[in-house]
Amino acid sequence: MAISVWEQSTYFAPKEVVIIGCGFVGLWTAYELINKNPKLQITILERGVIPSGASTRNAGFSCFGSVSELMYDVQLMGEANMLETVKMRYDGLQRIQKVFDKKTIDYDQFGGYELFEQGGAYDIKKLDADIAYLNKILAPALGTPKKNGKYLPIYTNESKQIPKLGFQKINALAFSPFEGQLNSAKLVLALQKEVQSKGVQILFNTEVKKFKSHKNGVTIKTNLEATIETKQLLICTNGFAKQLLPELDVVPARGQVFITEPIPNLKFKGTFHFDEGFYYFRNVGNRLLLGGARNKDFKNEKTTSLETSKLIQKTLEEFMMKRILPKDAKKPNIELRWSGTMGMGKIKKPIIQQLQPNVYCAVRMSGMGVAIAPIVAQRAVKLMKH
Ligand SMILES: Cc1cc2nc3c(=O)[nH]c(=O)nc-3n(C[C@H](O)[C@H](O)[C@H](O)COP(=O)(O)OP(=O)(O)OC[C@H]3O[C@@H](n4cnc5c(N)ncnc54)[C@H](O)[C@@H]3O)c2cc1C
Repeated sequence: MAISVWEQSTYFAPKEVVIIGCGFVGLWTAYELINKNPKLQITILERGVIPSGASTRNAGFSCFGSVSELMYDVQLMGEANMLETVKMRYDGLQRIQKVFDKKTIDYDQFGGYELFEQGGAYDIKKLDADIAYLNKILAPALGTPKKNGKYLPIYTNESKQIPKLGFQKINALAFSPFEGQLNSAKLVLALQKEVQSKGVQILFNTEVKKFKSHKNGVTIKTNLEATIETKQLLICTNGFAKQLLPELDVVPARGQVFITEPIPNLKFKGTFHFDEGFYYFRNVGNRLLLGGARNKDFKNEKTTSLETSKLIQKTLEEFMMKRILPKDAKKPNIELRWSGTMGMGKIKKPIIQQLQPNVYCAVRMSGMGVAIAPIVAQRAVKLMKH
């Protein structure tokens, strides 16, 4: 599409900040920037008709971290890095609740559980010791609430609840009251509304093809016949980062999900993790939302395709019938199946840095962007001029 002189002097006029990607990170960064400087001219460029990565397509866990996941993270990247990412999640969750009221984003804090099986990858004999270790180091690092001068526990062993919840072949259960759940598209829409009301422009259906940094700013080429000039560019394309930034350690990882029809007498409420987080499920009212199983087919799930695959969907259905629902339960109909694109790398930490003069990135949310995006945004803003 060729652009008119009027469009050139408005929609595509030079900007002070252009953000690529209208997911949580792009939106939270626009939110932080416009609140710091209400006069800043900011445009978000999004290639989809709606945001088309992970932010409106995830499971809606405002995830805090589970016992086996955090113990694995200590091994992978050391205690200090693990503490830093959990602190980002905790502070991010506080920030979400401070900015938006619970009703606007359907926020519920039923807490998060981790399920364990005897003989699985995690040795459940270690559970009480791991819970004690994590409670000891996490509470002071995060500054969680105290009662009678003592930190409230972050994790507890709730294995005695298993019969009540109806799960099959589950032998231990850990609980944390800090995890919540929300409607991620409502959070995206609330952020969009908030930043647009303050003058941020969002252009959908606008895909950035190339950019070139120069001494006065950055020239951006899009799929439209429009070139946009900006003083600063921030790239927030997470799982798609390599398309514009091939040098970065970010690999796309597809996450597949389904949701069932309403299940009468669904026995649980909350968010649940199994197999080091490779399976996750929650209630949405009295429906079951289940996702994961990426570890069944790592190679083919390293994709930005938003299709679902028969293998993963079948694995999830089997997991639902063999583990989550009681033994005699009728198989519920699956109402919707979908997928989204996450951004992963060798370690589970976001990349927030300046790459070239006037060019910055905030990518690689490692499957925890709902929670950490508000803090990633604050860190990105610290690098930029405003
Ligand atoms: C199935 C699934 C379950 C998940 N569950 C959870 C969870 O429970 N808790 C949690 O914290 N996190 C979860 N996540 C991860 C979380 O959703 C992401 O970390 C987060 O949404 C990433 O936000 P983002 O803004 O970095 O990226 P995205 O939301 O992917 O946004 C990037 C945007 O950039 C756009 N874009 C890409 N390239 C271009 C281009 N060249 N030009 C213009 N636009 C472009 C894309 O269309 C996209 O909208 C899950 C993800 C999935 C897929």
